[in-house]
Amino acid sequence: MRSANSDSIVEKRRIAVLGSTGSIGSQALEVISQQKDFLEVELLCANSNADLLIKQAITFKPNCVVVCDESKYDVVNDALAALDIKVYSGIDSLCSVVAMESVDIVLAAMVGYAGLKPVLAAIKAGKAIALANKETLVVAGELVTQLARENKVNIYPVDSEHSAIFQCLVGEWHNRIEKIFLTASGGPFRGKKTDYLQTVTRAQALNHPNWSMGDKITIDSATMMNKGLEVIEAKWLFELKPEQLEVLIHPQSVIHSLIQFEDGSIKAQMGLPDMRLPIQFALTYPYRMKSSYPRLNFLEHASLTFELPDSKTFRNLALAYEALSRGGNVPCILNAANEVAVDAFLHDRIRFVELPDIVESCIEKIFFVGNPTYQDYVATDLETRRFASTLLSTMA
Ligand code: NDP
Ligand code: MG
Repeated sequence: MRSANSDSIVEKRRIAVLGSTGSIGSQALEVISQQKDFLEVELLCANSNADLLIKQAITFKPNCVVVCDESKYDVVNDALAALDIKVYSGIDSLCSVVAMESVDIVLAAMVGYAGLKPVLAAIKAGKAIALANKETLVVAGELVTQLARENKVNIYPVDSEHSAIFQCLVGEWHNRIEKIFLTASGGPFRGKKTDYLQTVTRAQALNHPNWSMGDKITIDSATMMNKGLEVIEAKWLFELKPEQLEVLIHPQSVIHSLIQFEDGSIKAQMGLPDMRLPIQFALTYPYRMKSSYPRLNFLEHASLTFELPDSKTFRNLALAYEALSRGGNVPCILNAANEVAVDAFLHDRIRFVELPDIVESCIEKIFFVGNPTYQDYVATDLETRRFASTLLSTMA
């Protein structure tokens, strides 16, 4: 890679894209195409979307491809047989290949708890992590960040709010953070009350005003769980206490987050809502590579507004703060319950207002573990999913 402002040449970075067929994964491949002198694809991985994975592999010619759904191995392997690409399947194979010598950065863009195991494997192998998969830090933030410290691994945030904080921190590493403000658009139901939310549909919830994303995070944005998960993510990334983490509704999604230092100065990072920028910065840090993405025109955004979040109506945000302050395995319970609830909502099995009910019941019922090990997280995730599924069957 070459510094944007100097002639010094450093080596091309070889990227493992986990979740390449998703919203972040596909945008990451666009970024890599735009920066092909500096970045290249070493590994592509998806769950079961074999057709798109095959197309991506033919275009980017990675060293290897992993399809996690083992039933799709033959179709992917046959389609790529004529190319010099190794094909593997299953999550354990993924955990081995992320550790390959030839991988420089692992972009974790899988959705949900499934991202935890390969991220841990990549950290143990000393790979830099570009982290979109916030659930990894929500479930096991302490374990992940401790392992990263032990292995001298950097975790570069991809989530736009955390990237904003990270960008504001460049050159400020020695200065203490007083607090950060994570901005939130408020989603499609901003300003609405519980009466209105009783009857909202899946299609309404999937209709995000500013961002086009995968289904799970889009529902999380509508319930405000996404911001709750991001508060927990920020705690681990920036080593902050709950009282240093504030949420600010900013419907225009132009200020991606703000940081307040101990002298009272506030820095913000701004730009159009476009994930390609934070993805690129995570992959090219510390360099800002020239890009052709659309620029922000202030005159088209002459008014930037701010509101407090309504965590009485959007109870998931309050539940996430509760999980944050209780610690231990409670954020893992919150995450597993939410994944089950969102899946049920996406399959029209529960109503929008029932999403926080499931999360709350799981937090009440699942056994608390104060200092969880990896095995405790695995057990908590499993137990919570079982309990949440039982709850769903009683609600049907
Ligand atoms: P998508 O649903 O669009 O994509 C998910 C990707 O993960 C797909 O490639 C999918 O493969 C793969 N995947 C899903 N389950 C598994 C599994 N069990 N094993 C292996 N691969 C799996 O999600 P997004 O791109 O929207 O989000 C990805 C992550 O990034 C999430 O954690 C989200 O919170 C975070 N994020 C997303 C943002 C966005 O703008 N989209 C913004 C900030 C953070 P397949 O296609 O085969 O199912
Ligand atoms: Mg975000």
